Parts: sequence; C-alpha cells; structure tokens
Amino acid sequence: MKLAVWKRWLCRVVAGGVLVLPVSAYANVSKPVIDGVWAQGSILRGQLARGDSLYFLDRQVPVSSDGYFVLGLGRDFPETATLTVKTAAGDSTDFQYPVQPREYKIQRVEGVPAKTVNPDPKYLARIREEGAQVAVARKVNSDLQHYRQAFQWPLVGRISGVYGSQRFYNGEPRRPHYGVDVAAPTGTVVRAPADGIVTLSHKGMFFSGGTLIVDHGQGLSSTFMHLSKLLVEDGQEVRQGDKIAEVGATGRATGPHLDWRMNWFDQRVDPTFLVPPMSEVLAEDRAAANQDKSADKTKQVQ
Ligand SMILES: [Zn+2]
Repeated sequence: MKLAVWKRWLCRVVAGGVLVLPVSAYANVSKPVIDGVWAQGSILRGQLARGDSLYFLDRQVPVSSDGYFVLGLGRDFPETATLTVKTAAGDSTDFQYPVQPREYKIQRVEGVPAKTVNPDPKYLARIREEGAQVAVARKVNSDLQHYRQAFQWPLVGRISGVYGSQRFYNGEPRRPHYGVDVAAPTGTVVRAPADGIVTLSHKGMFFSGGTLIVDHGQGLSSTFMHLSKLLVEDGQEVRQGDKIAEVGATGRATGPHLDWRMNWFDQRVDPTFLVPPMSEVLAEDRAAANQDKSADKTKQVQ
C-alpha cells in the first residue's frame, strides 16, 4: 500500500472513533486523479480537488480554476516522480510515482568527417539566437485548456524517426532526437493536432528550417519542423484539423518529413502518448479507401 493511501486509511479508522489522534497535516489532502502512464517521455493529464495547488520539478504547476492540469516527463526522467499537493488550508502531501524507464534506439555511425558533424562556427550566434526564440515560445504559460482534447496526428504516413533515439558519430554522442518523424512528400498538408495559439512562426531556422510552435495551454506545446510552407502566423488561433503548414526538408534534414515535437515547458515529451498508434490510423485509412473504391464500383454497376 502506498504510504499516503495508508495514512488516509488510518485517519478514516481514527475518524471512525476507535481512538483519537491528532490529525496529521497531510490527512486532508486528496490524491490527484491522473490520466496517463508514469513513463519517461510521457504526458499526463489530471485533476486536483478544487482550490488545491500542485508542485512538480521545483515549479508550481499551472492548474485551471476547475482543477485541471497537464504534466510532462522528459526523456531521461529519474525513477521516481513526486507531486506535492497543497490545500488552501495549508496542508501538504507528497505523492510518489514510480516512472517506467524506456529503451531508446541507439545508432553508431563511424568515419563521419568532423566538418559535417559540427556546424561552422560562423553560424553559432544565429543558432543561439534561434534557440532562444524557441525557448521563449516553450515557456509560454497560458490558461488555455486545449491539452485536454483527444489529439490527432498532424498527418498520416510512415514513421521514419522516433522519440529518444540517439546517434553516436565517431563514438561521440549527439543530441537525442526528441520528435516523431513522419515521412511525406514536400507539400503534404500538416494539420493542427489540437486547438491552440501559434507562439512561433519562423520560415527558416538553421537546424529546424520552417518552424511552427503551437501552445495548447498550461505549458504544453507542439513544435513542427522542416516545413516548406507556413500557413499561419504568430498569435493566430488554430482549431484541431486546420491546415497549418506543408511538409518540407528545410534546415538540417536528409529528406522531406514532418518532425513533430512536444514540450511541457522545458521537459521534452513524446507526442505519441497523446495519439492512437500510427499503424491503427493507417489501417483505418486503408479500410476507408477500400470502402470508397467498392462504393465507386457499385455506382458503376448501377
Ligand atoms: Zn526528426
């Protein structure tokens, strides 16, 4: 039994009149209701008792007036997550959750010429400036609650890169890949996976090329990279399914694809926690296409 649960159970026994003990400070704190898995890279949505506040990773978690919140766990999140809940009355309890570790795809590439691995120093100032712009957009803490929607894939296609994978060039580790890549021809439409507000729209960043960031609220954002065309502007409101951009191979990309990333503030999270498996979506698409074909045939017969 978890300690907090046990303590609440004890207090219930006490309240039942068996014996009277001073009520402990954490006895009156309700455990948050959580939807999601405690795993590295995960995105969890939940609800607190009204009026309670929540602390996680040294920050106060944004909570809506009706108690809703979202959290994210980074790629290398340690084995235990601690949520601290405080009531308006000043009671406080730590709730602990074991975090499932994940195994990430590791690729070792030898004999890579050094100059293709590291960017030319003359671009460093630009790279730093663009990184700062992205960081600002991901820090946005709005009270939107679009993170509560059922998300959908921004486009349907073959997954060509997964979250967390890492390459070693000549034995040296590179930054892990934090997005999910979907291969598609240049010009393929990218749709908003959920409602949101555009917080960054940049035609050509050094690494990520055409880049869009959409805020879904309370720290959760989507980033779309290597776009050939941006169809929305900074500050624009988007609805789920709206056309927001077109796939490209801009920035550092070996071929046209969409790189979709998600952040909960500075925690880089895995978007696939919010959408159905791509294999299912592809199978549904095929079934729908077959149905269309047989409907056409029926029409021809008639
Ligand atoms: Zn990618």
